[in-house]
Amino acid sequence: MASTVGVRDARRGSRIPAWLPPYLIGPWMLAAVLCAALLVLRGPDRAFVAALSGLFGLSIAWILVCVLWPARADRTCPSCGESSLRRSDPRSTRGVECPACGHRDEEQSSFLIAEDDGEPLEPIRLEERRLAETRTAGR
Ligand SMILES: [Zn+2]
Repeated sequence: MASTVGVRDARRGSRIPAWLPPYLIGPWMLAAVLCAALLVLRGPDRAFVAALSGLFGLSIAWILVCVLWPARADRTCPSCGESSLRRSDPRSTRGVECPACGHRDEEQSSFLIAEDDGEPLEPIRLEERRLAETRTAGR
């Protein structure tokens, strides 16, 4: 039960609908393995063509959804649930902080928040790359 609550907490603010039960992933994967075994044993048939067409159509639909509704910055704080996350360092695309509750995560990516704020990302990324190369060359 605790893991289900954790999954729900992780889904808060995400695009995955809350009604989609995570325990369906196992049966879906098992069904995929059974279908693959049937394909190997019996060869391709009408059901295979229908399933492949459905999968192809679903992937095209997914690409269209991703292109027409691109990802937005998730500013939901994992500690207090407020939509108040902001970047902790304006010179980096790493690290977020919540002014509402004081939550900080230096490892979380803040790339989408920077992009959402309209910051020019190229100078930030070039500076981060230069710093990484300097650290690597210093070894
Ligand atoms: Zn917070």
